[in-house]
Amino acid sequence: MKNKNSNVATNNPVDSLSKVFICHRLPERTFKIGKWYFPVCSRCTGIYISIFSYYFFVYFVYVEYDLIIIITAFLMIIPALLDGITQFFGFRESNNTLRFTTGLIAGIGLGILFKAMKWILFS
Ligand SMILES: [Zn+2]
Repeated sequence: MKNKNSNVATNNPVDSLSKVFICHRLPERTFKIGKWYFPVCSRCTGIYISIFSYYFFVYFVYVEYDLIIIITAFLMIIPALLDGITQFFGFRESNNTLRFTTGLIAGIGLGILFKAMKWILFS
């Protein structure tokens, strides 16, 4: 019998590592189509979609990374952090739409930061 917090994944070691390093995949926080769950939770779905969209965008458009865009990127991560932290400490319960939306915003911020680090280090 599954309890409320049981994960979609099984208990093999690879799944345990992926829960720590990739995503918790809690069923109540994961989108599903029919009976099939997405491979990552709703927040990570938003993050992955926007980070890959950002990389697709910057493949065609040159972006010069300055302090303003880096600060903006940090600010874009804050909503997802606040949503996750306040939920983690039990102050409130989020929902999948909010997780996905804040994940989309955070993904762009993370994409900018990763590209900025590469741009600063290798140019
Ligand atoms: Zn996740």
